[in-house]
Amino acid sequence: MMLLTRKMIEIRNILQTVGQSNTLTLPSIVVIGSQSSGKSSVLEAIVGHEFLPKGSNMVTRRPIELTLVNTPNAQAEYGEFPALGLGKITDFSQIQRTLTDLNLAVPEKDCVSDDPIQLTIYSPNVPDLSLIDLPGYIQVAGRDQPPELKQKISDLCDKYIQSPNVILAISAADVDLANSTALRASRRVDPRGERTIGVVTKMDLVDAERGRSILADKKYPLRLGYVGVVCRVPQTTALFSRGSGNITSAILKNEHAFFSAHPTEFGPHSEVEVGVTTLRKKLMHVLEQTMASSLAGTRDAISQELEEATYEFKVQYNDRPLSAESYLAESLDGFKHSFKAFAEGFGRPQVRDMLKNELDQRVLDILAQRYWNKPVEDLLVPMPEPDPLSDLAKADPESLYWRRKLDASASALTKLGIGRLATTVVATALQNHVDQLVAGSTFAAHPYAQKQILDATNRILNDRFFSTSDQVENCIKPYKFEIELEEPEWAKARENAGRVLRDELRACESALKRVEETVGKRKLKDVMSFIDHVRKGEIVLEGDGSAGAGGFSSALLERGREGVFLRDRSEIIKMRLLAIRSKQCASKKNQMYCPEIFLDAVADKLTATAVLFLNVELLSEFYYNFPRELDGRLGRHLSDAEVERFAREDPRVRKHLDVIRKKELLELALQKIEGIRQLDPRANASNHTL
Ligand code: GDP
Repeated sequence: MMLLTRKMIEIRNILQTVGQSNTLTLPSIVVIGSQSSGKSSVLEAIVGHEFLPKGSNMVTRRPIELTLVNTPNAQAEYGEFPALGLGKITDFSQIQRTLTDLNLAVPEKDCVSDDPIQLTIYSPNVPDLSLIDLPGYIQVAGRDQPPELKQKISDLCDKYIQSPNVILAISAADVDLANSTALRASRRVDPRGERTIGVVTKMDLVDAERGRSILADKKYPLRLGYVGVVCRVPQTTALFSRGSGNITSAILKNEHAFFSAHPTEFGPHSEVEVGVTTLRKKLMHVLEQTMASSLAGTRDAISQELEEATYEFKVQYNDRPLSAESYLAESLDGFKHSFKAFAEGFGRPQVRDMLKNELDQRVLDILAQRYWNKPVEDLLVPMPEPDPLSDLAKADPESLYWRRKLDASASALTKLGIGRLATTVVATALQNHVDQLVAGSTFAAHPYAQKQILDATNRILNDRFFSTSDQVENCIKPYKFEIELEEPEWAKARENAGRVLRDELRACESALKRVEETVGKRKLKDVMSFIDHVRKGEIVLEGDGSAGAGGFSSALLERGREGVFLRDRSEIIKMRLLAIRSKQCASKKNQMYCPEIFLDAVADKLTATAVLFLNVELLSEFYYNFPRELDGRLGRHLSDAEVERFAREDPRVRKHLDVIRKKELLELALQKIEGIRQLDPRANASNHTL
């Protein structure tokens, strides 16, 4: 059987997946002929189906690499376009349409393309063969065809008819062989006619004697000979069988009727070869011989490529094995490891500090609103200046006014929506930390994994958000009604309030300095003193100052306003720092005088309670679920294709994987070639003559 051809086709497919290296191709039969020479009819007779694009202006624009695979025990006949992944196509008119579409996709200006279409046909009725159908030569470009088409087709064919390919040169019997474009092209590259098979079509169009003499031609002798055929599909059959039934037997019957009607010219003693069946056998035989003789050369070429791939693997990758799965598994392990390290360092104390910091800021806001209020919004409006702070120093501990003020301030803090705030703060921190971990991991180069990790984080945090925030809110509820303080709590809050105020003072001072630097010290001083005068009512403004005032632009006034605010705030904070350090504020008994300390103590209580629940409801849950969620999304249940796609997102990994794959495929191809060489003695002759 045609074991060798089939195995070689297998090897060729392996080599094709390795990549387009010119040295690694096996010989094929390339089919050339001028338009209307009957080229399509010959190929369709061999395949047994009409499947090639037809139509008045349908010039084949791309080579078709046609692989025929004999499937002796199968019923079905079908085609596949391996590069398109359309699956098995049993309807040959569908194959025809697909080929037509692929041809029409070549832009008009390019005329033809040398990017081949791969088509494999499986059938019990085809021989194992590989053929390349090329665009038909045209004599004169048609009216709606570009003038350079003729040359481009000829150039494309020239590329393919080079050694070691076998040339199947199609000429029609009713055209003088001397005028056959196919034979002329073949003679250019194969002057001694060693690897060309001549096919003479339309034998029925010339009288038998003339037909015989064409086939016996001695003017253009071909070592592989000429075969005469009649490939026209009988009309009646074509009508019924289009696209579905096999047309081989109809063609053969028709052809047989013709040749057997002229036994003298075409009979067994005529010394000429005729018939599609003869042609098929010849093609199989010639292809097998050619492949056998090119085997040694191909083996050497593969060995050399393999050597190069092996060298690259060693030098660039230190022979380090890698697969898409192992890469994903290692990446995931690494990431989970770093997550674990983070989780160990981010627990209750860290959450506590974060949350307390957040509440410290809220306390500052409340203080500014309720105690330190200098209306900063209307700096350009004259106003009587209250001095609530000096009042505060003189506050009567029994006064209802100051009592209520303090209660309202504490309420503002406890009713802030602590549950929501605290949960948001922690969830955001977790999210940011995960982002940082991703950025520092191998996943940084993998958008797919990043999305999975982001989704996993979001899912868990969203799942936990409401219940956590409710729990926290619930548990701080008692503080909304009453706040009991112990002396040690007061002492701690006094210390912390001092620290917060000092930080705030530093922040104000450096902000003021920055304003000073942008505006200029002198200018800022001038505009600030202008604003002070306005506020004291010493300067009366016309208008609201939005278009500038006192010779200052509105932008400058805005900066001045900022300066006045920062200066005043610094002064207030300095005063308050003195106050909370004073004896008056040393004990919780005098909480009325020191709202800073009191609110700090409240914030501290809220924080402690919130942290307890945040830890259980959010942190522990997240630490437990996150790695599991990752396993689910990036672990075992991903398909091989998904794992492969993931790994290939990183160009370095892709290159590494490619080298390994190339090496493996070449090794496989080499192994198969060695297998054939052991089976087939012909394959050992390095330049076998056919
Ligand atoms: P291509 O352009 O070279 O692919 O040629 P086709 O295979 O499309 O054939 C061109 C024309 O010649 C079509 O009308 C075919 O029916 C016709 N034809 C092909 N082979 C034969 C044959 O053996 N005998 C006759 N009489 N006509 C044929």
